[in-house]
Amino acid sequence: MLEVKDVTLKYGDFVAVENLSFEVNKGEIFGLLGTNGAGKTTTFRTIMGLLYPSKGYVKYDGEFVSYDTVDRIGYMIEERSLLTKLTVKDLMLYFGQLKNVDAKTILERLDYWLKRFDIENYKNKKIKELSKGNQQKIQFISALINEPSLLVLDEPFSGLDVINMELFVEVIKEYKEKGCTIIFSSHQIDHVESFCERLVILQKGKTVLSGLIKDIKKEFKKHTIKLIAD
Ligand code: ATP
Repeated sequence: MLEVKDVTLKYGDFVAVENLSFEVNKGEIFGLLGTNGAGKTTTFRTIMGLLYPSKGYVKYDGEFVSYDTVDRIGYMIEERSLLTKLTVKDLMLYFGQLKNVDAKTILERLDYWLKRFDIENYKNKKIKELSKGNQQKIQFISALINEPSLLVLDEPFSGLDVINMELFVEVIKEYKEKGCTIIFSSHQIDHVESFCERLVILQKGKTVLSGLIKDIKKEFKKHTIKLIAD
């Protein structure tokens, strides 16, 4: 289980996330929604132990995130600019070995995912030569390469066409079936209801709504309109 408890995160004096609390159960798909600058990436960096909260804590399976827990986590970052000079294969070897996966296993898994995402000839291409959507697929694969038990996906659907978005959702659902805990962020709310059970809506670092989608559907829609208008 992932536990985010009363987390406040500041950049200098600026409060990016304030008193954020939620729990994600094993095998649950949980959404973090909000407009640009709401604090989604900040929350994920805190979950990954890359930022330290000024108040509150994050625990995964009862432990603070450390080198040991990171092996069990897959993190798909939002930024696309990292390591673009590497080939797909070298990037995957880099990320996989950071997570203690051996090279042979990494390459077997990579072949499987490249085929699944219909980019099987891209293994030796440099990241910068790929389209944005295909870079997005590579980032998703890099989060899956250690077969994580917790998947942290920062805006996995941004910039994807409908077919690839459905493919991503299919894979996310498969991971859920295997017992993986999944948290993702989005400002696109259209498809959330079809696969996500509970969510938090953040606005300027504060929680404006949280809970089961079915319970907060009306408010969710009201807030969606408000959030988009902001
Ligand atoms: P987006 O949807 O645009 O990616 P987000 O919800 O992920 O937004 P964050 O990136 O978490 O939002 O940013 C939350 C707030 O913190 C924003 O106001 C942002 O300007 C600020 N912020 C983010 N990173 C830093 C930083 N390194 N230093 C100072 N302020 C930052």
